Amino acid sequence: MSTGTARAIPPPTRLREPATLRQRPFFVETILALVLIAVPLVLPYLGSAPNTVNRILVWGLFGIGFDILFGYTGLLSFGQSALYGTGGFVAAYLLTRAGFPYVILALVIGTIAAAAVGYLVGLIALKRTGIYFAMITVAIAEVFYFVEFNPLSEWTGGENGLPGVPTPSIPLGFTTLHFSTGWSLYPFLAVVYFLGIVLALRIVRSPVGTIFRAIRENPLRAAAVGHNIHSYKVAAFVIAAAYAGLAGGLLGVMQGFMPPEAFTFDTSGQLVIQTAIGGRGTLFGPLLGAGVWLFLQDFLQGTLKLGAAWKLVLGLVFVLLVVFLHNGIIGGLKSLYQHVRGRANGDTVAIDTIDADAARTSAREPHFRRDVPAFSGPILKATGLSKHYGGVIANADIDFSVNRGELRGIIGPNGAGKSTFFKMLTCEVSPTSGSITFEGRDITGMSVTDVCQLGLTKSYQVNQLFNRLTVRENVAIAALAALRGKLKLDMLRKMANVPGLVDQVEHTLELVNLTGRRDTPVSQLAYGEKRRLEVGLALASSPTLLLLDEPLAGMSPSERVETVKLLKSIAQGRTMIIIDHDMDSLFELAERVTVLQEGRVLVEGTPEEIKGNAKVQEAYLGGVHEGLGDTAEAVS
Ligand code: ADP
Repeated sequence: MSTGTARAIPPPTRLREPATLRQRPFFVETILALVLIAVPLVLPYLGSAPNTVNRILVWGLFGIGFDILFGYTGLLSFGQSALYGTGGFVAAYLLTRAGFPYVILALVIGTIAAAAVGYLVGLIALKRTGIYFAMITVAIAEVFYFVEFNPLSEWTGGENGLPGVPTPSIPLGFTTLHFSTGWSLYPFLAVVYFLGIVLALRIVRSPVGTIFRAIRENPLRAAAVGHNIHSYKVAAFVIAAAYAGLAGGLLGVMQGFMPPEAFTFDTSGQLVIQTAIGGRGTLFGPLLGAGVWLFLQDFLQGTLKLGAAWKLVLGLVFVLLVVFLHNGIIGGLKSLYQHVRGRANGDTVAIDTIDADAARTSAREPHFRRDVPAFSGPILKATGLSKHYGGVIANADIDFSVNRGELRGIIGPNGAGKSTFFKMLTCEVSPTSGSITFEGRDITGMSVTDVCQLGLTKSYQVNQLFNRLTVRENVAIAALAALRGKLKLDMLRKMANVPGLVDQVEHTLELVNLTGRRDTPVSQLAYGEKRRLEVGLALASSPTLLLLDEPLAGMSPSERVETVKLLKSIAQGRTMIIIDHDMDSLFELAERVTVLQEGRVLVEGTPEEIKGNAKVQEAYLGGVHEGLGDTAEAVS
């Protein structure tokens, strides 16, 4: 076993071309541009009112940001009206009462104001997750509504809103483009929507977009592989706020009047419903949902003259759509397409942009090493480590140290405190008492994200994967944290342009023998493959000390043999600690073994010493057997 400090891992023997479709550059953008150009040429003949089409575009733009927040990052906010209203009223105020003459600049200022407010709201609301986050956003929206009507009515016009919002003009030197109302305003709104989509596509295909989806799929693991998920969530919130602010400003421009209803809860609710109808996590879902909603509304109210009953019919349509099309209309169409093509893919394309060209041009050595500080003592040292859960003593006064390059095994009966010990070492839970040093640095009380960034991480006993993403995307998420640090807002960068990413992902896939499955969604993997990917995620975050919590758990005998072989090759040049119940395998792998019992270290030694130790035999088999031989397995 190597004890050197530089963990030189041989580079991959070859970089294979990903099997998936290469991203066709600007395909989506081109189709969108063609559709937006066709709309005013076709829809008037079908009797569509230009105002309905314009309103759909404004809702669609509002929804792009919301979809990044909800569909991509998994954060359901019912408070978007607060930001829509903020952007709208700031722009409208500037253009009416303040006499500011530049419409586009006022829209930009409104967008920035909404983003700034979104940052503050996000900081507060994102302190909580799930339903509590949603409830806080509802409350914040209500506060904004109240503030707009009462203390700020001088500026916002209270229940009268702000009339007289002008439409934009763009001087071109030789002529001036005027956009007034109806179809005349359409090109302006269409261009803004188009730019909004172009920007959003860049964001969701960037490393930041990939991390957003990681947070949606499994926030715990996204943090554990080294991403500062709170800051990324705030970033998603600010992006959504900016889109909302711009859409709010356009609402005033479109109507020539900024209505106070922009701030109502109904606005937030309608946005959620439209996104659910169209399909979340698609960027276009909100536009499509708004189209269905507003055309149906016009049809039910105008053509069928249903009066107030239109809401009832729309409500039923919504329920039916959501029940039968779990992922909205776009999700339904996608499933149909995949069904027809007879294959399934991950939900988006972000990592497909790590393409073969990038693989060929990046001949760097993978990043499987970190700058190791000049430190010669044990890589890990725990002193007097205890963890109490109320009256339960999970770990008591554990002293433990591991040298660089060592492969240590940990065994112990169920409930001995092995997993709790690992959780403390990786700072997933904080110890009741005691301290941990990693490479000479006291890490006690640090966050799991910071510790991973320092080079200490673990694979989980129960798989913690990003289930709806592909194998390659999973590995890339972990690699991104190692390559970019815990927070980097490179929202316009392509995944393929992250230096070293392709190499690191490909090399990790080879190490865990999943290269052939790189484009398979995790949900379609066999159990043994998922276990290997679980190890792969930990590996891709480039640890100097890797902890594996029962990597063989639940595997068939043949899978175990294969995985032990794999672990042996992974162990070359690494420091690892492995918990497992399969003692035959662990004795084969580990150089030294620590036995835990009832939360304490019972004994530590070489596999031979452990096998012959009377206390261990007592702990496992009640002292009946002479030794722990080939067939010995922990009682589990
Ligand atoms: P092992 O991994 O060796 O099976 P664990 O570390 O999971 O053991 O558990 C050690 C003891 O701590 C058990 O008695 C378990 O019930 C208890 N324990 C672990 N986690 C918690 C928790 N979050 N809350 C309360 N008790 C816990």
